[in-house]
Amino acid sequence: MKSIYDYTQEQLIDEFLELGEKKFRATQVFEWLYLKNVNSFHEMNNISQGLRQKLSALYSIGPLQINVKQVSKDGTIKYLFELEDGGLIEAVLMVHDYGRSLCITSQLGCNMACEFCASGLLKKQRNLTAGEMVNQVLTVMHDTGERVSHVVVMGTGEPFDNYDEVMKFVRIINHPHGLAIGARHITISTCGLVNMIERYSNEGIQTNLAISLHAPNDEIRDQLMPVNKAFNMDSLRKGVADYIEKTNRRVTFEYILLDDVNDSLAHARQLAHYMRGLNAYVNLIPYNSVDEHGFKPSSHVEEFKDELLRLHINCTVRKEHGRDIDGACGQLRAKRSGVI
Ligand code: SAH
Repeated sequence: MKSIYDYTQEQLIDEFLELGEKKFRATQVFEWLYLKNVNSFHEMNNISQGLRQKLSALYSIGPLQINVKQVSKDGTIKYLFELEDGGLIEAVLMVHDYGRSLCITSQLGCNMACEFCASGLLKKQRNLTAGEMVNQVLTVMHDTGERVSHVVVMGTGEPFDNYDEVMKFVRIINHPHGLAIGARHITISTCGLVNMIERYSNEGIQTNLAISLHAPNDEIRDQLMPVNKAFNMDSLRKGVADYIEKTNRRVTFEYILLDDVNDSLAHARQLAHYMRGLNAYVNLIPYNSVDEHGFKPSSHVEEFKDELLRLHINCTVRKEHGRDIDGACGQLRAKRSGVI
């Protein structure tokens, strides 16, 4: 059965017209789903009984199944959801002073095979649909009774390897008559699929772009991230520069500090050189240990940051959330599931 969450408002209107229903019925249903956040067609009481029954027979509706919910000391919540086909995915809710930010999963598994990441230990089984991504947001809102104000596509998966569905997801949650999550509150993170960055720069949307860089030169990046063999750092830099020129948006480079791998002052200087002239800043990520990988967290985080600042490169150190529940960056892997 098709999920009702798989439609943008425009697509829902087309769908309703094809069913012989009026256009405004589609906008009403859209508002019930996202503005009023109801979980069944039955509750849509300005829609006729007949249409409600018809919709129930045609579309699936309602929250994802929550298999496990873990709450961290810092208030972060990690959810393990079960999809209709039995697939298991995770999402992480972080509570900030400025709102609630949800990190969502875009693929079941991941094929990018980054050396330091837990998520890639399970190869990609399939892409998630837009509706499955939308439903992560809705289910969390329903479960907590609070609005999600920010969304980061930084859970398991490479969003630009599932481009169309991810963009459709963004359009659905951004719609003003729906969840109305502002474009500037939505961030997509990619490991650097340059051809897709180009496509993204033509979307005409104000969402944010983050790039998982993690290395100051090709030699190191080749070792950490296989994607660098397809799109090296020069091509990535050019792609990012073009993106910035087209969109006038600032880009974030994510950089995990790995002990003795990419964390020397010389590396900081190389990174500063790479970024010179780009409207971008660096988000330094303390490494979160993953049992299967041999890396250790750097003990030079502050020195690395100070060197970048000295060279006038904007940078912050990411505050990690939910490390005690394996909910921090790179730790998502549907652990309780026995999948791995
Ligand atoms: N595939 C996309 C989306 C995943 S984002 C991307 O690569 O950007 C997840 C972020 O966490 C990425 O920046 C990733 O490189 C980072 N990460 C992966 N493993 C990590 C670990 N063990 N510790 C800290 N960050 C990690």
